[in-house]
Amino acid sequence: MVVDRVTLEDFRNYGQLTASFRDGVTVIAGRNAQGKTNLIEAVFYIASGRSFRARSDRELVRFGGTRASICADITAGGRPQRLEARLEHGQRKRLTANGVPLRSAAELSGRLAVVLFCPGDLNIVRDGAAERRKLLDTCLCQLRPRYAAALREFGRLYDHKAAILRNYREKPSLLDTLDDFNMRLAQCSAQLIWFRAALTAPLAEKAAAVHREFSGGAEELQISYKTVSTIEDARRKPEELLPAILEHQRTHRQAELDSGQCLTGAHKDDVEIGINGVAARAFASQGQARTAALSLKLAEREIHFEDRGEYPVLLLDDVLSELDAERAGFVLGKIKNGQTLITCCEYGGIAGANGAVMRIEGGKII
Ligand code: ATP
Ligand code: MG
Repeated sequence: MVVDRVTLEDFRNYGQLTASFRDGVTVIAGRNAQGKTNLIEAVFYIASGRSFRARSDRELVRFGGTRASICADITAGGRPQRLEARLEHGQRKRLTANGVPLRSAAELSGRLAVVLFCPGDLNIVRDGAAERRKLLDTCLCQLRPRYAAALREFGRLYDHKAAILRNYREKPSLLDTLDDFNMRLAQCSAQLIWFRAALTAPLAEKAAAVHREFSGGAEELQISYKTVSTIEDARRKPEELLPAILEHQRTHRQAELDSGQCLTGAHKDDVEIGINGVAARAFASQGQARTAALSLKLAEREIHFEDRGEYPVLLLDDVLSELDAERAGFVLGKIKNGQTLITCCEYGGIAGANGAVMRIEGGKII
């Protein structure tokens, strides 16, 4: 997959910008605060319908303006496509693909596959479980539209249940609907768990292979998926997972009522990471944790390739400057195929012989 051209209007610090990209590596270079990450953010947005760092679309509209747009000409599956996003204060975002309006961001998802890697991702091993769930969710939402739909439905049901548990003391009639929400949440959890377990198996295998290579064969990376404790084998079909999820709900019902919190379901999942049999979250050195994070990201890219037959666009925001020369060299050596956009302040020849360099200053290409 390739992003051929991006046109921005009043997006972040860009007034008008048309940027053309080639297949292979493009380094987006420039001093701090010139718009490098903003450009990566625009590509991520047109791929997913959301920003990876803004809390709301409002932040994406250029200061002083009321509307912004992103237009991307891409080639996916050998076919050219045009994706557009129009943002306007006080309005719902408008997304189109080849001029046809899309009903939601979910319909955008998967047309342009991207794998983003930013400095925060280097902490994925030591961060809380939410960051590791996000890794699975981001990957699955692009590859499996049904997963994206189930995840949205789960979020909606979860919010309802959380509100019931929070407010039932003042309004006891809310409890009348709790069983119904529990059942639907359990069904949704079963779907998510099934997809997540199916992804974790190849992810574990591929990440371990990268990590092994990286550590010169000295370290073995173990990735395992942790979900609702009553489930014995998460790779069973969703309908076979359901009874175990309902059983877990039943045994936690009183605790949920007492604490006012949702204590059971797929929102508590985690991915356990071990290095040479030791829990990485607690015991890995900084370098080991970073290597494991890199391995996971590169594995994610391989999974896209296996699934789709073409590499996703790799977005590396500032990540190379966070790595020592050896790790940075390893990452670059691994990304021989596919399109990669790399932002950095110091351009030190990282684009390689065939790479291009795009210099950004004050929201303009110079
Ligand atoms: P760094 O090297 O520090 O990461 P960068 O080039 O990646 O810098 P960006 O994060 O892309 O910088 O941001 C560039 C500038 O865009 C910042 O100065 C920021 O204040 C500005 N900016 C962010 N949002 C908006 C907006 N909605 N309107 C106008 N300017 C904005
Ligand atoms: Mg930046």
